[in-house]
Amino acid sequence: MSTPSQPSEKALVPFVSVDHMMQLVHHIGLEAMITGIAKDIEADFKRWEAFDKTPRVPAHSPHGVIELMPTSDGEAYGFKYVNGHPKNTKEGLQTVTAFGLLADVYTGYPTLLTEMTLLTALRTAATSALVGSYLAPKGATTMAMIGNGAQSEFQCLAFKAICGVTSVRLYDTDPQATAKCAENLVGHGLSVVSCKTAEEAIEGAQIITTCTADKRNATILTDNMIGAGVHINAIGGDCPGKTELHRDILLRSDIFVEYPEQTRIEGEIQVLDADHPVIELWQVMQGRASGRVSDKQITLFDSVGFAIEDFSALRYVKSAIEGTRFFEPLDMLADPDDPRDLFGMLARAAPVTR
Ligand code: NAD
Repeated sequence: MSTPSQPSEKALVPFVSVDHMMQLVHHIGLEAMITGIAKDIEADFKRWEAFDKTPRVPAHSPHGVIELMPTSDGEAYGFKYVNGHPKNTKEGLQTVTAFGLLADVYTGYPTLLTEMTLLTALRTAATSALVGSYLAPKGATTMAMIGNGAQSEFQCLAFKAICGVTSVRLYDTDPQATAKCAENLVGHGLSVVSCKTAEEAIEGAQIITTCTADKRNATILTDNMIGAGVHINAIGGDCPGKTELHRDILLRSDIFVEYPEQTRIEGEIQVLDADHPVIELWQVMQGRASGRVSDKQITLFDSVGFAIEDFSALRYVKSAIEGTRFFEPLDMLADPDDPRDLFGMLARAAPVTR
């Protein structure tokens, strides 16, 4: 890999394509990679104060949302481009796609460009299970997985790898999505039960994950469905006007968030008063705030996805591809030998004859 600071070398940027990302995941192993990313996310949340933080920058349209998610720890800078278009699956397209970039703060030069659609599924699952390891009831083995789309298998396997879940109960309004998820999970060491209703899915579950996509204030879970002591991992409410839980559940729960400034705009708590108390996960991870304190408590991770999780995942990938063939060097930076002779570099370039 080239380093941008060596003047006469061409500054090539490692690029991880979708194909290379898939090879990398198979090379490392899906659960091992999710666990590794979770460790990096936890390490970065433990040094929360080191980061520049801002709510992500959205461009809303009637079709969906396109967002930029930047952060920096003063040495590296990262951002993710991500969309959220719940209507896309009906057109044969993904609801969520993404790519991201890391850069060196000292030179400003990019050091990694990568696909992040797969990486977002990995880091979202890693974050959910990491948070589950702090908040889920001790000895939890069963998870309800409501919404069986693109993220769902990653969520199930992350909770298996990190929280010791052995059984998942699937439900989706589209039975084909449930059938797909159940089939994909065959051979991964989980007991899988396909359910016909959300009520059936949550029977006996100590952890409830909601991961649906619908651009409205939906009610995937109602208050009477939630018993004492469960942990709710709410993934799908991540945009203004797009939530999954009945408000009464929020009022009975201790609510844990990534970055309140962003979650109050995008998360389940957008339906609550602006000063409703929430607990910041970095404080739990640093030991400054309590996680689960009783077996009767309902804990809710109001997940929206925060830039530091992507930063951790980007740095994980940058280090994981070193010495491998799972990337290609990309000529995306004009970097003349004489830094002030950009024009000369252009003039000297041999014209291509077509
Ligand atoms: P997807 O479109 O592939 O899957 C969503 C599934 O939800 C579909 O199978 C759909 O049939 C199902 N569904 C819709 N309404 C339902 C209902 N009422 N009950 C049960 N199932 C229902 O989407 P995805 O890529 O899996 O993403 C799921 C959600 O997670 C999206 O809303 C996305 O924006 C969000 N997301 C959040 C984060 C985060 O960090 N919090 C990260 C990635 C994605």
